[in-house]
Amino acid sequence: MSIAHRAQRVRARLAAADVDALLLNDLTNIRWVTGFTGSNGWVVLDRTGDGLTLVTDGRYGQQAAAQMAAAGVEGVVLVGATGADTQAHLAALCAPHARVGFEAEHVTFAQHARWAGAFQTDLRPTHGIVEAERRVKDAGEIEAMARACAIADQALAEVVPHLEGLTEAEARNRLETRMRELGATGPSYETIVATGPVNAALPHHRPTDTVIESGHTVIIDVGALVGGYHSDMTRTFVVGDPTPLQQALYDLVLLAQQAGVAAVKAGMSVKELDGVCRGIITEAGYGDWFTHGTGHGVGLLIHEDPFVNRAGDAILQVGDVVTVEPGVYRDGFGGVRVEDLVVVTEDGCRVLTASPKDSPCLPSPPTT
Ligand code: ZN
Ligand code: ZN
Repeated sequence: MSIAHRAQRVRARLAAADVDALLLNDLTNIRWVTGFTGSNGWVVLDRTGDGLTLVTDGRYGQQAAAQMAAAGVEGVVLVGATGADTQAHLAALCAPHARVGFEAEHVTFAQHARWAGAFQTDLRPTHGIVEAERRVKDAGEIEAMARACAIADQALAEVVPHLEGLTEAEARNRLETRMRELGATGPSYETIVATGPVNAALPHHRPTDTVIESGHTVIIDVGALVGGYHSDMTRTFVVGDPTPLQQALYDLVLLAQQAGVAAVKAGMSVKELDGVCRGIITEAGYGDWFTHGTGHGVGLLIHEDPFVNRAGDAILQVGDVVTVEPGVYRDGFGGVRVEDLVVVTEDGCRVLTASPKDSPCLPSPPTT
């Protein structure tokens, strides 16, 4: 993972934003630019020269300096002993610049009012400057996500043969424990285990003590966290023999999902990709059972740009890592979702998740 060059990638966008420096306060963006993982930080990045200053509180001064040095990031760390001290540092860092951009999506109304009252500079809202650069993953970032996917694949393969008779919460616990044992920092998000005609009808159901039993559709949405990077995958199973409707909807969602994965390539609009999956499901008469977007970007956040849906105007580019995850849900039936994580390439994509998806049938427990 090469963090050292990232500040330069952000600087290259500042002229178009018509600012002389950028004041970052979003911790994910700060982590991406500097390698710093603490919970308190601001960065002032000058457009010209190589000025980069990170301001944090007394808990993190040493850590910030060490993490920036380890990442090869040139910069200065300042410690603010109090909130007023921090604000004075930021005001001084912004003072030499006529126009300083701030992250409009991440600064609160109150924060902006404090800065506007204290800074002798023209503060200008900017939108998604670092996020735009974060979309393009480098080889190290992709490797971390591939490792996270492999851990989730392995945990799912081990837990799935023993699902019947567990509660949703027990299945979640087993998956999350195995992912940690296999080397993940933790789960990428609270693992979704949704079973039966009521719970599986909720796309983001939280696990309960409902028992997974014969006749149920079971949606498992599981990801691991590795080196700060997320993975994301969903598989759907049927306990016992699928009914004709369960099999038909499984086949339909899988067809739509595979068509989506096959269509992904750089230059395609997210709207078009959404349309590939949605078109197949709508054509079959289940359009209003597909109640969410087709996918989203994944990286340091589990949900990040680009969002793949009907309203999006993003164009997929090489290095985007996105999910393809159509689903159908109906109270009284349950639900089916199939989700893979893919890296966009010039003429297609590389699929990072590898769990089998050809059949909804649960594999048999191994006999000993
Ligand atoms: Zn998911
Ligand atoms: Zn997802």
